[in-house]
Amino acid sequence: MLLQFDMADPMRPESHTRAPRSGRLTRWLRLVREPYISLPLSALVLLVLGWMGVLHMIESERSAAIATARASALELINTYEAQVARNLDAIDQTLKVLRYAVELKGAQSAIPTLDAEGLLPPGMVFDVRVADRNGIIVASNPATGHKANISRQDYFTFQRNNPGDDPYVSEVRRDDLNPEPHVHITRRINDAQGNFAGVVMLEVAPAYFTSGYERARQGEHGLLGLVGVDGVFRVRRTGDEVSWGQRPPQLGEGDALAPGSVDGVKRFLNVRKMDGFPLYAVSALSYDEQMATFEQTRRSYLLAAWGGSAALVVIVTLVCIWSWQAGRTRRRIRLAQERYAAASEASLDAFFVMRSVKDEQGRIIDFVLDATNSRAEAMSGIGKDDLIGRTLLSLLPDARESGLFADLVRAERGGGVHEAERQVTIPNVGQGWIHRQVVGVEGGVVCIVRDITERKRNEERILQMAHYDELTGLPNRTLVSQRLEVAIAQAHHDGTTLAVAFIDLDGFKLVNDGLGHQAGDELLRVVSARMRRAVGDDAMLGRFGGDEFVLVLPAVQGVADVDQVLEAVRQSVMQPAMLGEHPVHVSASIGAVLYPNDGGDANTLMMNADAAMYRAKERGSNNVQFYAREMNSSHEEKLKLREGLRGALEAGQFSLVYQPKIDLRTGRIFGVEALARWNHPEHRHVSPARFIPLAEECGMIVQLGEWVMHTACAQNKTWRDAGLPPVTMSVNVSARQFEEKHLVDRVAEALRQSELPPDGLEIEVTESLIMRDLQQAVGRMRELKAMGISLSVDDFGTGYSSLSALKSFPISSLKIDKSFVSDLATSQDDQAIAMAVISLGHKLNLRVIAEGVETEQQCRFLRDNDCDEMQGYLFSRPVGPADFAAMLARTA
Ligand code: C2E
Ligand code: CA
Ligand code: CA
Repeated sequence: MLLQFDMADPMRPESHTRAPRSGRLTRWLRLVREPYISLPLSALVLLVLGWMGVLHMIESERSAAIATARASALELINTYEAQVARNLDAIDQTLKVLRYAVELKGAQSAIPTLDAEGLLPPGMVFDVRVADRNGIIVASNPATGHKANISRQDYFTFQRNNPGDDPYVSEVRRDDLNPEPHVHITRRINDAQGNFAGVVMLEVAPAYFTSGYERARQGEHGLLGLVGVDGVFRVRRTGDEVSWGQRPPQLGEGDALAPGSVDGVKRFLNVRKMDGFPLYAVSALSYDEQMATFEQTRRSYLLAAWGGSAALVVIVTLVCIWSWQAGRTRRRIRLAQERYAAASEASLDAFFVMRSVKDEQGRIIDFVLDATNSRAEAMSGIGKDDLIGRTLLSLLPDARESGLFADLVRAERGGGVHEAERQVTIPNVGQGWIHRQVVGVEGGVVCIVRDITERKRNEERILQMAHYDELTGLPNRTLVSQRLEVAIAQAHHDGTTLAVAFIDLDGFKLVNDGLGHQAGDELLRVVSARMRRAVGDDAMLGRFGGDEFVLVLPAVQGVADVDQVLEAVRQSVMQPAMLGEHPVHVSASIGAVLYPNDGGDANTLMMNADAAMYRAKERGSNNVQFYAREMNSSHEEKLKLREGLRGALEAGQFSLVYQPKIDLRTGRIFGVEALARWNHPEHRHVSPARFIPLAEECGMIVQLGEWVMHTACAQNKTWRDAGLPPVTMSVNVSARQFEEKHLVDRVAEALRQSELPPDGLEIEVTESLIMRDLQQAVGRMRELKAMGISLSVDDFGTGYSSLSALKSFPISSLKIDKSFVSDLATSQDDQAIAMAVISLGHKLNLRVIAEGVETEQQCRFLRDNDCDEMQGYLFSRPVGPADFAAMLARTA
């Protein structure tokens, strides 16, 4: 939304750029504030500064060391210069004294004279000689017999050619007179006329001039030496090594740090010109040796600096890692907190975070609300700001009574999760259920509350559905069974008697089939409400499904007691019920048992009550039967019969009997009804009232019906062929048979096979059968009628045909049910019904036949009221084919 607004608003173009930039800046600032960024930065600065300091210190140390070395070197040259000067002075003194003696006494006697005076230097160190003007050595000390010629030597020629009075110092030599290396120092002798007269000469080992080399001071690589003005070393000492003859490049006077100028070793070097001699004194200190202490200091400085740096880096790295991790943990915690807040906000549960309040003894006396969420506001009806800081007991004064307080204390003390479901009054919701979960945390508790009202209601609904019949609200089979078990246990414990009754509605199927399921449902509702009123509060009435009900009566006195209640139930059911505009009559067949007489457990009791109820049905319905032991056999018999039915048709156990239909006016037989008989091997003649419903149940009715149709048609054809007066054969077709797809084909096939003309066949269908599916039934009836077959409505008056629909039925007769005929003589109601049916039938152009006519009175009434035909024991019971043929022949 915001983005769209920004993009659509050209007046705020900078909003795109500025926001990210300032965002980036703050992000950077936040980053720099993070120790894992700022710490390394300051550590780096510290390192740079530290190193600068160390390097500076080293530099000043170096300067100090160099200054010290220079001073030492200067002192050294001063000392050396003085020493050499002293030595040269002594040598020069000797030469001068010798020359004086030669000039005074002659060359030959000069040396002995001086020796005698003790003026000669020690012969061990110095050789002293005198050479004449021709270069011949004329005298020596120590004395030697050899008269060597030195006239070509530089130290001789220099003096001969140089009239000045300068001493000469030769390079180092070995010669015949002195095989040891030595230098010659010469001075010129002049004769009285000032002409060259020879030289005085002193030979000394070069090492003489460097004996002052002090190892302690000058080390291994210091240097002492003398260099001639010709640039050639007369002597040079470094450490213990004495040498000569080298020619170092550029050796000026002064002091200089001359690396490699002598032998590649860097030194502090000083050179001094010797006064009165063609010599330079050279002294030097080795740079490395002089700087060794500094070097050590430098190294230790660097070592300390490196060590410090490394330690700093390590510490900073560790701190950074730790801080980064801590930062990450903080971020995670923050994120988790944000998520938690968002989640708890979005949660359907109310959160109450509470801190405990304790008294001096450490007992928890209350809780204070620290945090909560929107759901909590909604649930409590109090705003968040008002909630936070409130105490539990001020919010919920009955928290101690309701057990909440104890739960909270237990959760805080012992930890764990404590859950409970409570019925409470929720603001804005009213009475409801909550689920609360209490979790102990540090210093308090978290209480999570969920509104489970809806769930509870659903549970109740499911429980209701599982245990109660939706239609009538009565307990269902499950609940009845459960309660019956309980009631039995109770009766057993108390030693009382308990009654269980099975109630089955008679004729309910007709209502359901005839008026539709809605009417059936309504009827069940009305009847069950009435029954409930009739049984009272102590009894439990339940519905087992369909039109079956069960009644449990606890603590009854005996049969009479129970009978009274059941009679009341029967009466209540018999009251007509208004379904729309139709008053509907149903009745109840009731079977009852007593505990403990008729059974020790729920199963046996129910089974026996069922058997008793069947007996009531067999006894013509609408009555109460108490269980008697033999009933069970009839119940089992029913199961056995169903079993036996399977093979009965193939086994030829069925036969047909025929009951004549009489014209009431002429008294003649005009028709006959075929009725099925089952000659059961054990039970002999089984009534169709029993086996037809069984055959319907198991589907056998289709084959059985087909067999009846074929047999009846064939029988009629036989009678006709025998020349008997033609009669119409009536065949009963039950509901399941009638709805069968191939019914019409099968009827046609029966006619074809038997060659009976269609007018020789009538089909009886019951009223309720037609009403099950009116349209289909009428369609089917039309097909049959089109084939020339007539149709009759059986059991008329027991169902609930809509009279207007009756008009559209393609039928030719109505049969008044025998239940109306039986009481015809006495019951005014039945008379009225019979008369109504007769007049109705006539209005619709239908013939009316009455069945079950047993007495003359009934017959007379019917005749008087213009009924067309009759059927019944009064004229004949159903009989075998031969008997019927005889009867027909007789009456015709
Ligand atoms: P329904 O069609 O109403 O048949 C009349 C019943 O009344 C027959 O019983 C008959 O024996 C009996 N009855 C006749 N006159 C009197 C009388 O004066 N007094 C008394 N109390 N009863 C009389 P039934 O043969 O036991 O048949 C019972 C029912 O079985 C029949 O009632 C019919 O609905 C059914 N049924 C019988 N045979 C067949 C059959 O072949 N196919 C089909 N689908 N149903 C059949
Ligand atoms: Ca019939
Ligand atoms: Ca009938």
